[in-house]
Amino acid sequence: MPYIEHMTYELPELPFGKQDLEPHISAETLDYHHGKHHAAYVANLNKLTDGDSSKSLEALIAESSGGLFNNAAQVWNHTFYWSCMKPGGGGAPEGDLAARIDADFGSFAEFITAFKAAAMGQFGSGWAWLVEKDSKLSIVATGNAGNPMTDGYKPLLTVDVWEHAYYVDFRNARPGYLNTFFESLVNWAFVSQNLG
Ligand code: MN
Repeated sequence: MPYIEHMTYELPELPFGKQDLEPHISAETLDYHHGKHHAAYVANLNKLTDGDSSKSLEALIAESSGGLFNNAAQVWNHTFYWSCMKPGGGGAPEGDLAARIDADFGSFAEFITAFKAAAMGQFGSGWAWLVEKDSKLSIVATGNAGNPMTDGYKPLLTVDVWEHAYYVDFRNARPGYLNTFFESLVNWAFVSQNLG
């Protein structure tokens, strides 16, 4: 036993039950996506940091590269993504968030069109994001483990567009996954909380 027990990075619990997003996202997807993929990023991060979790994920994302960046960012990105969904989610945002989307994208419909285009345009694995910088909302896509915080953006919403996020439920149909995300899953209350 070491004298000092370092705290390790931990896999956060899902903010909903494994079956709660069905029929849109299956328990099987969450078993793998949370229980295998997200868990593996946490295990890799603990290996790479030798079990010392004294640095925040945000600090690691800001200052690291290579495998350390990839695993820290993937832990952060997935934790954030889970909170972007809820059982019975979907529909349109309200209040300040709705007004900010109208102001910066023209309308909610134009925002959705632009977000889906960014998510579809991300070739291969990555993420699509609604972000804020200098009080302005915009949409960015990042490849692999990329996180827009490294470019000074504050993430408000993300959708995981790695195939492991949708292959079991939608096979290769990323558009169907994106439609379902916005129609039935997106948690606008969480997105509103992230607004500066
Ligand atoms: Mn993923």
